[in-house]
Amino acid sequence: MCIRDSLHPLDVDGAHGQASSYLFAPGTSPFPPSASKPPLMLHPTPSRWLVPVDGSFDLARATTKPPQPQDEDTLEDRLDDLQKEIGDLQRLLYADDRFALLLVFQAMDAAGKDGTIRRVLAGMNPAGVSVHSFKKPSSEEVAHDFLWRTARRLPRRGQVGVFNRSHYEEILVVRVHPEYLEAQDIPDAHAEDPEFWEGRMASIRDHEAHLARNGTVIRKFFLHVSKEEQRQRFLDRLNEPDKNWKFSPADVKERGYWEAYQEAYAEALKHTSRPWAPWYAIPADDKDFMRVAVAEVIRATLSSLPLRWPPVAEENRTHFGEMREQLMAEASVADDSPG
Ligand code: ATP
Ligand code: MG
Repeated sequence: MCIRDSLHPLDVDGAHGQASSYLFAPGTSPFPPSASKPPLMLHPTPSRWLVPVDGSFDLARATTKPPQPQDEDTLEDRLDDLQKEIGDLQRLLYADDRFALLLVFQAMDAAGKDGTIRRVLAGMNPAGVSVHSFKKPSSEEVAHDFLWRTARRLPRRGQVGVFNRSHYEEILVVRVHPEYLEAQDIPDAHAEDPEFWEGRMASIRDHEAHLARNGTVIRKFFLHVSKEEQRQRFLDRLNEPDKNWKFSPADVKERGYWEAYQEAYAEALKHTSRPWAPWYAIPADDKDFMRVAVAEVIRATLSSLPLRWPPVAEENRTHFGEMREQLMAEASVADDSPG
């Protein structure tokens, strides 16, 4: 398929085709050492926004702005093309029926998760996509281990699953607000104990490695908006009548915890961006740029998979001629019939 190999300069930093050996320090791979090369799902899609998979990420140095001024019309055209390519690839993912694709979106309020999901996935067949928004958990959800509620919503093979917020809230909002952890009633869980959070991050890494080993391709997007841009967007919601419905006083209250959230995101991204489930920290102050950058990663990810139309069993193929004749014959009977 022609779209497989065309990489767009916007998001590619020349890292394509790197040797796979850079992925793990000795002894740290969760995959069998006997494998001559890491399994397919272990290749993070190259992008200049890829959060390093070796734990060296520094969120304070990540930009919220496009690297250079962007032309809006060019970005719109590019997004239209990407939507179509992603749609074509999704149909192939569905027919191939071996891989699932999980897309995780996390961000501060008003960074644009909803609009990005809507625009980037617009070319997909809705029958093959499910989007789940994870809000405050129910009492039933809180009564289970913290991966239970999202695990129930994972995509099956052939499907794309989108998480608008996700299990990551458990090391973000729950870390910023220790009262949520207390409400979970976990024996010996103490929010002030760094080892508790390290344990949660280890659980997430293991869980995602397990999914990858079983055919789920995971890509995670942190839409990185600046505090000033968030202020402007909240003001727009207050000032523009058709945006009033989006305004929530709770969002302004949460903004008061900005620094604590940045620290929690910094830790989360650093410790959970791994080859089998990489994060991408996408500059989010320019919405058009952000959407194109996300779409580029999704397109490149899908096109790197060895997707193929399902093979037709030989015994079925031998009947093709016979079936064709039978169907053609029905047409001539219909032509001959009166009226
Ligand atoms: P939008 O505002 O665009 O509708 P949203 O994702 O911000 O989307 P809200 O209903 O405003 O949705 O907020 C959901 C809230 O639920 C967020 O503040 C989020 O941090 C919180 N939340 C999600 N998961 C958990 C969790 N596991 N524990 C506690 N709070 C959570
Ligand atoms: Mg909100």
